[in-house]
Amino acid sequence: MTAEFTMETDAQGVATITWDTPGKSMNVMSLQGFAELDAHMDAALADDAVTGIVITSGKPGSFAGGMDLNIIAKMREDGGDDPAKSIFEGIMKIHAILRKIERAGMDDKNKGGKPVACALPGTALGIGFEIPLACHRIFAADNPKAKIGLPEIMVGIFPGAGGTTRLSRKLGAMGASPFLLEGKLSDPKKAKSAGLVDEVCDDPLAAAKAWVLEAKPSDIVKPWDDKGWKMPGGAPYHPAGFMTFVGASAMVNGKTKGVYPAAKAMLSAVYEGALVPFDTALKIEARWFTSVLLDPSSSAMIRSLFINKEALEKGANRPEVADQKVRRVGVIGAGMMGAGIALVSAMAGIEVVLLDQSKEAAEKGRAYTEGYMEKGIARKKATPEKKEAALALITATDDYAALKGCDLIVEAVFEDPKIKAEVTAEVLKHVGEDCIFATNTSTLPISELAKASESPEQFIGIHFFSPVEKMMLVEIIRGKATGDRAVAKALDFVRQIRKTPIVVNDARFFYANRCIIPYINEGIRMVAEGVSPALIENAARMAGMPLGPLQLVDETSIELGVKIAKATKAAMGEAYPDGAVDDVIFWMADQGRMGRKAGAGFYSYDDKGKRTGLWEGLAAQYPVADDQPSLTEVQHRLLFIQSLEAVRALEDGVLTDIREGDVGAILGWGFAPWSGGPFSWLDILGAPYAAERCDELTEAHGDRFACPELLREMAGKNRSFYGSASQSAAA
Ligand code: NAD
Repeated sequence: MTAEFTMETDAQGVATITWDTPGKSMNVMSLQGFAELDAHMDAALADDAVTGIVITSGKPGSFAGGMDLNIIAKMREDGGDDPAKSIFEGIMKIHAILRKIERAGMDDKNKGGKPVACALPGTALGIGFEIPLACHRIFAADNPKAKIGLPEIMVGIFPGAGGTTRLSRKLGAMGASPFLLEGKLSDPKKAKSAGLVDEVCDDPLAAAKAWVLEAKPSDIVKPWDDKGWKMPGGAPYHPAGFMTFVGASAMVNGKTKGVYPAAKAMLSAVYEGALVPFDTALKIEARWFTSVLLDPSSSAMIRSLFINKEALEKGANRPEVADQKVRRVGVIGAGMMGAGIALVSAMAGIEVVLLDQSKEAAEKGRAYTEGYMEKGIARKKATPEKKEAALALITATDDYAALKGCDLIVEAVFEDPKIKAEVTAEVLKHVGEDCIFATNTSTLPISELAKASESPEQFIGIHFFSPVEKMMLVEIIRGKATGDRAVAKALDFVRQIRKTPIVVNDARFFYANRCIIPYINEGIRMVAEGVSPALIENAARMAGMPLGPLQLVDETSIELGVKIAKATKAAMGEAYPDGAVDDVIFWMADQGRMGRKAGAGFYSYDDKGKRTGLWEGLAAQYPVADDQPSLTEVQHRLLFIQSLEAVRALEDGVLTDIREGDVGAILGWGFAPWSGGPFSWLDILGAPYAAERCDELTEAHGDRFACPELLREMAGKNRSFYGSASQSAAA
């Protein structure tokens, strides 16, 4: 077994413990790593020749990326019937190792002990920052690309190796809150000004070694181990501290609507920990951490937002085809989507030819990148050089000849099959035989559009979401004839622009829109039934949806809703099921309430376009009924309608991998992230209960809630999506 940590002691007695996970570009903590770090600490503390210790990384530009989350799964499995005990004990062992670093051999009176410094060559995340927090002094390289912080909350857990307790004691509850509750990451200079690290310098290893040689006994006693220590900003029963905790509690509940267990548990760990001595606080932190790790929400979030998201980004479903990295992309149509696609491509260093009907229109699209970068410069997130570099990569033109040499085309012209076909034919006259042609259509079947090409195997859908630069999901759609090289090309492109791909098969609305449209429609249906709009919107938010269905339709525009309804009705004929929805949106359109852009929709807006509340005039046409459904009933309608559509997409073969279904749902339309996605949510409910609810909802509201066969079958066998044999291999 190759060592993850090694130790060397120099002539001056400084023992340097170097972390270097074999075979990884960044260090990741494993159980073996913890054991080795612990053994080196024991040896260094016991060795009289060692006067001080420096912990650093053997990886250039980074200290560590975090913990291997499989450790947690292993602790849970090892626990058999009592996973809580096993997890709690596992966490306490980690606390003991970090506490050993922090106490460094001191006795109860803070006497003795050896100075321990940490030298960070760069990025230090999660456990990679919790270890430094246990050291006596943190030196970080002046590396502006480095990110330092505790992002655990983003995947549904919290810093559970003492990071929560140490940071809240170091900065005070208020000071620590952006780093703990929002997972805010900082570059080294900002980390120093926030008090996360002590020094930023060119050679942190040399500085750390020099420091341990000169450290005084008082330098190595942590404030919380010193007599008379008081929490910065005040402990909970101090008047100032009281205000902080009341405010933090309100903020957490306001932001999370109470559905994210990790934020609440972390706040409890900080609050309760602040009332007791440090070692007891660590125990409290460990208990809350155990409870979070055992909550199905946190496992589902880790699975979807960390493990599976990363697997998809690394090409889990990429066909085995040689590297298809994009060198020169042609973007056809420089409107809202095309301009965004040009921007993200140029930012990834790809040459872009941005083509529109006129040179002016193309230039306007290119100016979007200019405006975006200028905003970035004003916010100190970009530099004038970066702006120039991005703009230099974009050629704005109306001349198809400029597309010569493009290896990928992304078409984003008007949503009209005839125009798209003309554009496709024209493009193909000017590009090489190998060029892959992608369309960004949001509704038109790829297999139909592919007919405009003589090489349909090189034709594919690459569906971006708006705004392109913000939305992290890209839906790649395989047409009937699409070949593997086109899929690989699309995946490699998405990887270059650092977004998350899912690959789906061709069908009406693909995957994301197929699920989100029923969500909007269900909300509108309830309006027609007399359910209070406030209940609909709040039920959605309290179920963890970022926007209620009525706000969402206002954002995307009621005009678009009307267009989609008309097109779907024309395509489906008699089978069209959404007449009740159309009554409401057609009436809204007649009233001129087209949504946020029009300054009027289901919500009212002020002159600046800010929402001022639900539109009261709606009640004149759709009065609120005396009897209102329960909150759970409304929430179930809103979540089931999306989840059942996701299951049907799987049954129909539009989705081929539930991981894509879950990750795509969270990143594409914000499906209740706490649940891990629609398949994870159904797993949390349990198939038997989910099937029973489908039957009740069908009886009460109609066949759109009919239980899909797959779910019914799973209910009969008491199986889950992630547990079932066929999918667990994939997952
Ligand atoms: P848009 O109207 O903002 O832009 C379309 C651009 O295409 C315009 O600049 C227009 O001048 C140009 N164009 C039209 N015909 C052309 C031709 N023959 N040759 C060259 N350029 C031509 O539209 P958009 O919102 O950017 O949408 C573009 C495509 O992306 C559509 O297929 C749409 O369905 C899809 N899409 C849109 C969204 C969204 O939220 N807007 C999301 C995903 C996908």
